[in-house]
Amino acid sequence: MVGVMLENPSGMFICWGDAYTQLYNDGFRPILGTLKHPKALGASAAETFSEIWDTIGPIFADVLQGNPVRISDFEVQMNRHGYLETCYFDFSCSPIRLENGEVGGILGTIYEVSGKKKAELALQESKDQLKFAIEAAELGTWEFNPQSRTLTGNEQFKKWFGINDPNEIEPQHVLNGIAVQDRDRIVTSIQKALNHHFGGICHEEFSILHPVTKKETIVRAKGRTWFTDEKTAYRFTGVLEDVTEEVVSQRLVKESEVFNKAILESSPDCVKVLDQNGVITFINLNGVCLLEGENKEFFLDRNWSTLWDDHTKPAITNAINQGLQGKSSHFGAGATTVKGTQKWWDVFVTPIFDIGGNVVNVLATSRDITEQVMSSKKIEESELRFRQLADQAPMWVWMADEHVNVVYANHQLLDFIGIADVSQFTGHVWERMVHPDYIQLVYNSFRDASISKEAFSFEFQIKNAKTAVFEWFYVKAVPRFESGNFAGFIGTALNIQEQRATLSLLEYRTALLEAFNESSNDGILLVDTKGAIISYNRCFVEIWDMPEHIVNAKDDKAALEFAITQLESPEKFMDTIEVLYSHPDQKSKDELHFKNGKIIERHGFPVIAKDGSFYAWSWIFRDITDLKKTTSALKESEETFRQLSELMPEKVSRTDGEGNAVYFNQSWMDYTGFSFEELRNWGWEKVVHPDELEGLRLQWSKSLASGQNFEMEFRLLNRNGEYRWHLCRSNPLRDETGKINNWLGAVTEIQKIKEEEQRKGDFIKMVSHELKTPVTSVKGYVQLLLSMLYSDPEVNMSSIPFKPTLERVDKQISRLTRLITEMLDLSRLEESKLELEKEPFDLNTLVKETIQDLQHISSSHHISFIQNFRARISGDRDRIQQVLINFINNAIKYSPDKKLVKVIIRETENNQVSVSVKDFGIGINKLDQEKVFERFYRVTGKKETTFSGFGIGLYIAKEIIERHQGTISVESKKGQGATFSFSLPVLN
Ligand code: ADP
Repeated sequence: MVGVMLENPSGMFICWGDAYTQLYNDGFRPILGTLKHPKALGASAAETFSEIWDTIGPIFADVLQGNPVRISDFEVQMNRHGYLETCYFDFSCSPIRLENGEVGGILGTIYEVSGKKKAELALQESKDQLKFAIEAAELGTWEFNPQSRTLTGNEQFKKWFGINDPNEIEPQHVLNGIAVQDRDRIVTSIQKALNHHFGGICHEEFSILHPVTKKETIVRAKGRTWFTDEKTAYRFTGVLEDVTEEVVSQRLVKESEVFNKAILESSPDCVKVLDQNGVITFINLNGVCLLEGENKEFFLDRNWSTLWDDHTKPAITNAINQGLQGKSSHFGAGATTVKGTQKWWDVFVTPIFDIGGNVVNVLATSRDITEQVMSSKKIEESELRFRQLADQAPMWVWMADEHVNVVYANHQLLDFIGIADVSQFTGHVWERMVHPDYIQLVYNSFRDASISKEAFSFEFQIKNAKTAVFEWFYVKAVPRFESGNFAGFIGTALNIQEQRATLSLLEYRTALLEAFNESSNDGILLVDTKGAIISYNRCFVEIWDMPEHIVNAKDDKAALEFAITQLESPEKFMDTIEVLYSHPDQKSKDELHFKNGKIIERHGFPVIAKDGSFYAWSWIFRDITDLKKTTSALKESEETFRQLSELMPEKVSRTDGEGNAVYFNQSWMDYTGFSFEELRNWGWEKVVHPDELEGLRLQWSKSLASGQNFEMEFRLLNRNGEYRWHLCRSNPLRDETGKINNWLGAVTEIQKIKEEEQRKGDFIKMVSHELKTPVTSVKGYVQLLLSMLYSDPEVNMSSIPFKPTLERVDKQISRLTRLITEMLDLSRLEESKLELEKEPFDLNTLVKETIQDLQHISSSHHISFIQNFRARISGDRDRIQQVLINFINNAIKYSPDKKLVKVIIRETENNQVSVSVKDFGIGINKLDQEKVFERFYRVTGKKETTFSGFGIGLYIAKEIIERHQGTISVESKKGQGATFSFSLPVLN
């Protein structure tokens, strides 16, 4: 048995007894490794395999019990070479039975299968790993057997194609799942791959459309075909990778690139993409055109800076560097194009970032601004030219912006208003310089223009800063438009001072002429050298009674024909015209006698220009019919006057307006014995009595100056050397304008009247004298009587009725005395013998005393005294009292029905004192008031006649007061009383 075992090439062993003593053949030795052989021979298995005994021990024990065992791929951790190693064995153990049937030991056969097992495990592991990797990568896998046409695929594969079947896959199903546009291509590609001739490789990209969800999955397929030695394909396997995202994003990138390119291409500017070195990687076509290149290739791969002039290159390099640092830059520069055209560029350089924010490229955009630059240069040039021109212009030139602020003014304008710069051209300057009458006009004109945006003009006055004199200017402005938009005004202003002056003169003259023409009472006709009517006035038409149609038509022939029908001798009329027209240097004057009796004075004179040229004929027609009539009437009346004057016994004379005697009638010559020549002018003075001459001269010159009638009595010397009294009256004669052109004087001899008066005066004087003495004595006796009566108490007064009689006698006598006194005064006055004995005295006291005296006599009235002023005067006390008595007596006399008389003393102007006597009686009408101070004047009327008197008192009063350098006056209203006053100078 042992021998059999030892000979067996397979590994065999025997474990004998309970000690498991081992015996093994050579085939068993590799299992023991380098460590366990030969120690194991004869040793206990439990010792040799101590590290695995807890595993195999029980198995051996069981075999000793008689139970054979067989185990495949038995795995143990065994130490055979000094380290623990996983070993796999196929082994079988069977009991070795003794003759008694007991089990003496174990016979085992063992094959080590570690190598096979490990390879198996490794394969499994790699398979698992691949599967795991494929699943992790979400790859789809397939395997196709072209012979059996069986197709398998992993889960992912099935998922994409929407296959639920866990087993085999129908190849047609897969083909249907490939997108239509890819299907043919893929079928062809597979067929190729299955053909040994093409190498068996298949790389394709296609879309799978899920049959239900219609979801598109783009996959990249990598497949390989396995061929037999006979080059027959037996296996076609591969993987599918989902590249949907990649493809889509690539597509997007492509699309966006296309888009970007399209944008760049469509730019009108020159657009370039530069790489990190500033090399042009893209240029748009417009750019090529702008740079005048042949094609894009000319520019691509060139450094951008090479396209620029040397002096610009640093700027370009700088801009690129800035761009690469992520900064944008913008600048303007000039450069010549490929063909050498000078151009101006507005350049933008900006960085291009990738998604990560890194600068990948630089974008350079150059805008061709040559035209703008050129045009702005041209504008600058033209503006300069404009300014130079404007400054040379003789008028003002200015420009205003859209808000009508003046933004430019030439030197002439600035100089005139005295400012250095247009910026000083403020509203303030306007208001200071523009004539106040035109400020509003100027403002309104500009304001309206800013609204209407239309041309405007106006004339105004503005102060010349140098002379401070206002001058006239004519402003004209037109709107400016810049690229269609209103930009303000450009204007001029012309100094029209001279024109204006001439114009206004001309206007004035024309107006004057027209006014004269129309207002003229002469007919005026202006005809040209050939007799054609130029103009005529209203009066011309009236004088000639010319029918309107002829006049309106200015038909000179018709006018002439009509004219001659009106005249008494048309031939003469025509002759004059002919003569005059042939002698344009002559004036003419003639009279036209109309058939209807009208007489017209015709003046003809040529209108000659300064240079002597003959313009026109001016005909003036003056209607002198009335004049003629009046002149002859005047002549007649003058003749009548003369004859009348000559016949008159009165001395009649006439002087001119200045008082120079121009006419004396015969009476004058007869009386004086002087000739006209001797009397004329002021010759007559020599016949005036020297006593009156001075007064006469004075009064006559007063009349000459004032134009008031002259009246005076004086003595004239007759041819016999006698002076005789004359009354002279001279009245002025005025022309229509009121001017005195003549004085007519009539001198009447009043010698006889004078003598009569003298006699009368003498008589009165005599009578008065005669009256005075007896009346005085009568009065004396009466008074004596009365005093006796009053003083003797024995006398029974009631029994004697003569007391009232005597009182009346006394009253009458007082009146008589007063009358006589007045008459005497009068005669004294007339003889200029009223002497005044002046002395200073208190006027108030005098008035008071006088009132007291008079109140005593007349009980019918109460005389009140109102003293508003106290004054001393210098004068004849008695005479002043006389005036006062006259006033008060009159007041009482002429207010019989009233009970009050007021005497008021007050201060008046010019340091005068006035005494007024006021009554409330019958009053005096206005007309009579002027005359009551005249001699013998008494108001006539029903009432008045009942009052006795001579009309002398006031006359004397006036004389007395005037001789005291005072004034006398009356104020009254008929029926409402009168106030008589006198004023005298106050004594300081
Ligand atoms: P006679 O002696 O007439 O009063 P006068 O010279 O005193 O003379 O006055 C002249 C005239 O003036 C009077 O006749 C009378 O008509 C008028 N007259 C004078 N005083 C007054 C008076 N107080 N009221 C009305 N009339 C008067």
